[in-house]
Amino acid sequence: MRVRYITHLSQLDGLTPEERRRLEPVAERYVFRLNSYYAGLINWKDPHDPLRRLVVPLETELNDWGSLDASHEARYTPVRGCQHKYSDTALLLVNEVCGAYCRYCFRKRLFMNDNADASIDHRPGLEYIKEHEEITNVLLTGGDPLILGTRRLTQIIGDVAAIPHVRIIRIGSKMLAFNPYRVLDDPKLAALIAETCASGTQIYIMNHFDHHRELTRPATAAIRVLRQAGAQTVNQCPIVRGVNDRPHRFATLFRELSVLGCPQYYVFQGRPTAGNEPYEVPIMEGLHIFLEANRMVSGLAKRARFAMSHATGKIEIVGADDDRIYMRYHRAHRKADYGQMIVAARDDGAFWLDQLEIISGPPSLMEPSSDLEPQDAWG
Ligand code: SF4
Repeated sequence: MRVRYITHLSQLDGLTPEERRRLEPVAERYVFRLNSYYAGLINWKDPHDPLRRLVVPLETELNDWGSLDASHEARYTPVRGCQHKYSDTALLLVNEVCGAYCRYCFRKRLFMNDNADASIDHRPGLEYIKEHEEITNVLLTGGDPLILGTRRLTQIIGDVAAIPHVRIIRIGSKMLAFNPYRVLDDPKLAALIAETCASGTQIYIMNHFDHHRELTRPATAAIRVLRQAGAQTVNQCPIVRGVNDRPHRFATLFRELSVLGCPQYYVFQGRPTAGNEPYEVPIMEGLHIFLEANRMVSGLAKRARFAMSHATGKIEIVGADDDRIYMRYHRAHRKADYGQMIVAARDDGAFWLDQLEIISGPPSLMEPSSDLEPQDAWG
């Protein structure tokens, strides 16, 4: 199926001329991109439609809030296009374009120049991974790797799979939500996955469905194609105000994904990224949504963790009582932090760890960030 890209608000029939005029300055600051398939899923008569909210700018994005690199990804970038934060996992940023742009994206800094050149040279990162035998997992990300043509993906996946210590290649993608025909119309992609899995390198597709209405018939067919090719499929998404910030919405998403063999893996607390104020939900509200949603589904549908991708590690938000919030390092940049509990004073208005008053936790949380250089952690 031919999917047409929409890169100007003027091409959106669903907006009134007045709405376009008001939203133009927002799209100038944080680039707008949509496509005809996803636009067709939106109920344009409903100004609060969750899928509309996911892709159409809001004026409040211009509020002064957050920073462009809220998780300090730059700190963990040893060579251009490669991040190494946890010893066994490296990220290769392979491009700077997605099938559409989520308004709440935490990597929007990559899109701000509306890069015409979609592909990033993966070779410096490849060399880095070759030299680091502790790296067993490589996550291809961006942007969205599945925007790249299969010929380019064959080169990248082939190069990574040829590194003997890499056992798993993850592909982080929202293409099955934004344009599942990328998978359905290209049998060579499924063949590439089948070949790579058969050769002994497991491929995981880290999907990004935010709402159960994205699980359309073509999207579920695309999940099936990838699974039949041998890929493992999971889902991860943040809690986004107006998109999925209701327990029953998450419960439906968890339930449907478990039936499709694509279980929810992480639910993320939104990062305090510039432009994202209208999309953020406080930690305590997020915890309530997550726990309530879990209460409504079977064991197989509640396998996810609710986590915050903090500069120091992936912090699971475990629970709270009247006075305190309890958290634990699920992944930690410093080996010593792994598994450590963090107890903070309960603050129902806080969006991020740095806004909480820490009562107890590992010393690294109280130390200056300059101590978080790679050599301290990887030894
Ligand atoms: S698909 Fe991912 S990287 Fe792309 S805009 Fe959405 S959140 Fe950002």
